[in-house]
Amino acid sequence: MIKMENVFKRYQNGVTALNGVSIHIEKGEFVYIVGPSGAGKSTFIKLIYREVKPTTGLVEINGVNTSELKEREVPFFRRRIGVVFQDFKLLPKLTVYENIAFALEVIEESPRNIRKRVMEVLELVDLKSKARFLPNELSGGEQQRVSIARAIVNRPDIVIADEPTGNLDPDTSWDIMSVFEDINERGTTIIMATHSKEIVNKMKKRVIAIESGMIVRDESRGEYGYEN
Ligand code: ADP
Ligand code: ADP
Repeated sequence: MIKMENVFKRYQNGVTALNGVSIHIEKGEFVYIVGPSGAGKSTFIKLIYREVKPTTGLVEINGVNTSELKEREVPFFRRRIGVVFQDFKLLPKLTVYENIAFALEVIEESPRNIRKRVMEVLELVDLKSKARFLPNELSGGEQQRVSIARAIVNRPDIVIADEPTGNLDPDTSWDIMSVFEDINERGTTIIMATHSKEIVNKMKKRVIAIESGMIVRDESRGEYGYEN
């Protein structure tokens, strides 16, 4: 489902963010990406949803070589991938309901299906009662649950999360993790970059460690492996 072969990523400024990465991730896996700041974790994640392209090497997602995608094909490609960010990235002037419905409106779903599906995902993240709220009327944890609901509303095969608990306190972080576990148990592949030692060590999932643009560790029931 996710395949990288000998991937190098060099940015315009000459920085080599990834330095010969090869990896396979299968459908339904839950994978943590760990490593020091600047190691290349975000770049690894951005390659998966084709926010960046490899300089050399192969990135293949759901059978698609992302280097061969035309610009006009990118939105279609991204429909099968949900993305969750540390800072939520909700649209501030839209309600919770509208933030989530937006992703379905652009693909011209029928209003009836949109309504049904939005209420389904709000139920899943336990926020039905706040459908009419604006993002700034919610706590950080609630905002992150909205952004998870938005990420899964199209039923993607893969959900990518870049430090999704980075702005949340520990209790709220555990709530968010249980939502991700729930989604994973329904068959969705989860790839999550994190600096949370507690979460990684408790969950006993696959851990891929990146340092200086290289994979230095890949364990099926791994540990965080760093001090903080
Ligand atoms: P991490 O997520 O592990 O902190 P990143 O993938 O963000 O690592 O960054 C890896 C390296 O690439 C760092 O040296 C960073 O400064 C550099 N980098 C990241 N994004 C860009 C960019 N858009 N342009 C230039 N350099 C970048
Ligand atoms: P239930 O499934 O319990 O009948 P509803 O479908 O009536 O729940 O909606 C639950 C919440 O979502 C309510 O606050 C409702 O006002 C809100 N909601 C439903 N549809 C929309 C919409 N199109 N725009 C904004 N809020 C909506």
